[in-house]
Amino acid sequence: MELYDNKPNFSIFLPGPCNAECEFCYNNNKVKCRAVGLTSWIKNLTDIIHKLPLEFRSVSITGYEPSISRYLIPTLSLLDKFKYNFDKVVLTTNGTGLTASLRYRQNRYLIEKVVTDINISRHHYDELKNQKIFGGTYSIFDRDITNIARFFGAYKITLQCLYNPDEDPLWFANNYIKAANDMGIQKVCFRIPAGKLSIPHVAWELHDDTHPEDIRTQLYHSYSYMINGTKIQWKSTVDDPATILSINNDDRIFELVYAPDGWLYSGWDFGNERQMLIL
Ligand code: SF4
Repeated sequence: MELYDNKPNFSIFLPGPCNAECEFCYNNNKVKCRAVGLTSWIKNLTDIIHKLPLEFRSVSITGYEPSISRYLIPTLSLLDKFKYNFDKVVLTTNGTGLTASLRYRQNRYLIEKVVTDINISRHHYDELKNQKIFGGTYSIFDRDITNIARFFGAYKITLQCLYNPDEDPLWFANNYIKAANDMGIQKVCFRIPAGKLSIPHVAWELHDDTHPEDIRTQLYHSYSYMINGTKIQWKSTVDDPATILSINNDDRIFELVYAPDGWLYSGWDFGNERQMLIL
């Protein structure tokens, strides 16, 4: 198995639910597998981490909404035991359960200790529009995110959106960065909808940093720079890493995903036996 870019990623997709109903959510359409019970989930995950090739130094925790999943805290406790295996543990969340976690010392402590980066999805700078985009029972306000940022620190949090402006792109990007700064956040990521590998023109218009970082791989294109002390990243990714595997018909692994059904996959099409792996 050849590892691409020397930086493969291990994703842990926590069993449901999600409190939002975003129209663009790919999970609603794609994730149909049944979750295993918590005991089996932890047991299988332990086995997988033991066997994971050493090149996997980075873990992403994602899911439906990981911060309200009852699997989150046991998963973090497990990752704490394997702390020397990973340099980076990223939690991607809409923020819902984090406000509650701040009230419980033990959970707060574990998140702070184990998670190195928190990506908070916030699709608009306008609070009311966010409530509409997320729909469902989502009700996280700017003041909640300000509290989260205050607790975990400005550089641990990235405010990210699926970049799909409903107004002038430059105006949107500037207002979004300002909103992040107002909440005490110094890192912003504009995600380009999956499948489009090109970065929009506005990314180049926005800055005059003479040292932008431009990274292109088969999996993603990332363009980053600083604006007044805030790190801005534009990132586009392929739809599904396994698509690349099948197109190229090779056995390179870019990403491994531990799914709610307790199986390991080479992509995001859970239940698809062609993507199921046994280490
Ligand atoms: S918050 Fe994430 S998982 Fe939940 S509906 Fe929106 S995109 Fe889907």
